Amino acid sequence: MSEPLQAKRYIGIDLGTTFCAMAYVDAHGTPVTIPNAEGSLTTPSVVFFEPSGQVTVGADARAAAVKHPQLVIECVKREMGERFYNREIQGRKLPPPAISALILKKLKQDAEAKLGPIDGAVITVPAYFDEGRRQATLAAGEIAGLEVLDILNEPTAASLAFAYRDIKRKSDGQDDVMRLADENNKSRIAVVYDLGGGTFDVTVLRIEGNNLTVLATDGDVQLGGKDWDTKLLNASAAAFKAKHQIDPRADEHVFQQMLVAAEDCKRALSARDKARMTITFANKPVNIEVTRDQFEDLTADLLYRTESRIIRVMEASGLSWHQVDDVLTVGGSTRMPQVLKMLERVTDQKPNTSLAPDEVVAHGAAIHAAITQLKRYQKQQQTLQAARTKPMAQAVSEMKIADDNDVLPMVDVDPNADTAANNGIAPHSGGASTATTIAIDSEGSTITEAIIEDANPSEQYDANDATDVLRAIQTRNVNAHGLGVIMTQSDKTKVNSVIVPSNTLLPTSVTRRYGTAVANQTSVSIVVVEGEADNPDQCIPIGKCTIKNLPWGLRKGSTIYVTFSYDNSGRLDVKAIEATSGISANTAIDRTNAMNSVEIGQAKETVKKTTVS
Ligand code: AMP
Repeated sequence: MSEPLQAKRYIGIDLGTTFCAMAYVDAHGTPVTIPNAEGSLTTPSVVFFEPSGQVTVGADARAAAVKHPQLVIECVKREMGERFYNREIQGRKLPPPAISALILKKLKQDAEAKLGPIDGAVITVPAYFDEGRRQATLAAGEIAGLEVLDILNEPTAASLAFAYRDIKRKSDGQDDVMRLADENNKSRIAVVYDLGGGTFDVTVLRIEGNNLTVLATDGDVQLGGKDWDTKLLNASAAAFKAKHQIDPRADEHVFQQMLVAAEDCKRALSARDKARMTITFANKPVNIEVTRDQFEDLTADLLYRTESRIIRVMEASGLSWHQVDDVLTVGGSTRMPQVLKMLERVTDQKPNTSLAPDEVVAHGAAIHAAITQLKRYQKQQQTLQAARTKPMAQAVSEMKIADDNDVLPMVDVDPNADTAANNGIAPHSGGASTATTIAIDSEGSTITEAIIEDANPSEQYDANDATDVLRAIQTRNVNAHGLGVIMTQSDKTKVNSVIVPSNTLLPTSVTRRYGTAVANQTSVSIVVVEGEADNPDQCIPIGKCTIKNLPWGLRKGSTIYVTFSYDNSGRLDVKAIEATSGISANTAIDRTNAMNSVEIGQAKETVKKTTVS
């Protein structure tokens, strides 16, 4: 008899700009933060490339930044989606996903020391992350040797943790706590304000029984606690310069010390009315006292940037403040009193600060991992059952071709052919395969598919109730950025044809009809862009989808169907089909900044060989 399969272990990872946290769902169905090897609940997202070739991640790396600033990388999350990190490390250009993978490797190792082997994770990203940044995060997980079960938006994770706590306590019979989904399952509206170390997100959600639906989301991936630190750093540098006529920021070591001092001072000002910063440069010490009022004046423009986004997101949701039931705060920077005061003024209610702002996102990710694993297992069992019992002929006769009724008038598609090979990121890899089925895709071609069977994840939980609660929860998201294709109009001008507007409920699949630009066109290249401006120059090109080898003799304006399928975690699939021949394009997006599968494989080998502590 074969050994029973061991249920895989998945954790939730909040891969933050300045700090990371990780969590798992325990046997009672409760999310628990996993401490790192140093015993802390959060790990600084700092990487130190030691001259020996070893890599240190976390608090020690942060301390090393003062002495070896050139060998230390901070805030790599701000550069996800770029081709390379902004400066070379030890003479090498490094892609941001490879650097993030080193952080993930340390987290995985530390989690394994506590829990045993970790197979994969749900990794969170700001809701406002675009497609490129999401793909880069996925690549980081793959390079670190983690199966990325899903990419989850941070505010969705946070509200999932809030809502789950309520739903679970209700199911455990402790009904006396804060409740998001109220007694009669009447829907409640929550606004999640998430200000972390490097990014800001604000999201409006509807919570209805076990269903969480994102109504609108907005944010700024270049705004976070770091910017508050920088303001203090610059003000203290100016005070130093006024006294000694030299700028202490010129010295990189002093600059690093000032950064640490500024952050300490900022944190102190959350608890006290005044705090001090001491800077020593060229043997000249300067002691600076900062009051909370001064700090708030100095950073008012940053806070205002978040305020204007809150107002904008409420407009996008179509709701007004009196309809909002809970204002939830997430992210370490929401500990600043200025944030809570502003939220109370704008929303006219006291923000709900009842969950640990640094851990709640990781908890939500862990809950999502458990839900996804249970649902995947359930679906897999159904598919396996069907594959074993249904005869092939019946499967074929039940095939339905996609419905193309939702079409637009014909327009020209950019005819420029592109022969570049697809360099998209390979899909997730799975575990052992236990059954093989034949399926027919919507064009009628046969695909052989290996079905991977997992062990039953319910066995991880003592209480069946926990499994039921997890299984019942549904989450739905919206996309933060509009998506479209560049089309050439009859007067030859190019325009962005938006296919999926921003704040569309996900998952969504939209098909539009376009036409070839010239007669006898043998290939069509569809340029996919992010953004909603008409002018393509104001949008971000995110990839290409090219149909090649079209039959000779196609008339001008021959129909090309373009389908955008956007899944719940905000990942995009593009498909283009020429209607008469049925020839379709590769669906994977060809991104200019993304690492290709060869580069990912090489980085994976390097990270595997690198000692990370
Ligand atoms: P997160 O990424 O959510 O862990 O948030 C990290 C950010 O929160 C960093 O910029 C920290 O400096 C900031 N932070 C943490 N604690 C405090 C505090 N007590 N007052 C102000 N900012 C804080």
